[in-house]
Amino acid sequence: MKPRILIVEDEPAIADTIDYALQTNGCTTLRVTTGGAVADELAQQHIDLIVLDIGLPDIDGIEVCRQVRAHSSVPIIFLTARSDEIDRVVGLEIGADDYVVKPFSPRELAARVKAVLRRTGRDSSADEPVSLFSLDQPRQRIEFCGTPLALSRYEFNLLAVLIDHPGRVFSREQLMNLAWEEPQASMDRTVDAHIKNIRAKLKTIRPDLDPIITHRGIGYALQE
Ligand code: CA
Repeated sequence: MKPRILIVEDEPAIADTIDYALQTNGCTTLRVTTGGAVADELAQQHIDLIVLDIGLPDIDGIEVCRQVRAHSSVPIIFLTARSDEIDRVVGLEIGADDYVVKPFSPRELAARVKAVLRRTGRDSSADEPVSLFSLDQPRQRIEFCGTPLALSRYEFNLLAVLIDHPGRVFSREQLMNLAWEEPQASMDRTVDAHIKNIRAKLKTIRPDLDPIITHRGIGYALQE
């Protein structure tokens, strides 16, 4: 069965682009142009994932996400246009699964959609490689090689950021901003200490693997 994606975007050209990218990647698409229409669609249709623009004519996309989260865990990928929107999204507390910044490549968006579907178990195609990590954002749980990790809040936030963007190198400052509610002054050592703890916990499960890569002078990334 093809995954069914609801596109919530008021700009027709962008919606067309997303529509085309997702359809050519094996998805069925539905489209609405207002936040107010989302609840009706969810009530009437089976939806596997929502691509949700933040700047909508009626209700702010973030508010739409809150309303959806009140009764549904359907994965949500935000489309953001401005840095102040990104700041609100990456607080990681509003229940979104990922975000894509405009302008984005259709290919990138399709890849993100597939990744989220896979991670949330909504992708029926079984030919994809199994990921080392499984992230359950709503339950604040991360499994490593099938074993649940006991993580502190900031360890969870840090690792979730890395898992969400495999291969992407984050500076310590970026990690601090993404994972901490109140970024501290002593950021480098704080991030390093938490990464060290996470590595130790991963090592107890798989001593032969070290999936977090240190980029000297820059920061950290998760092995792709
Ligand atoms: Ca818009």
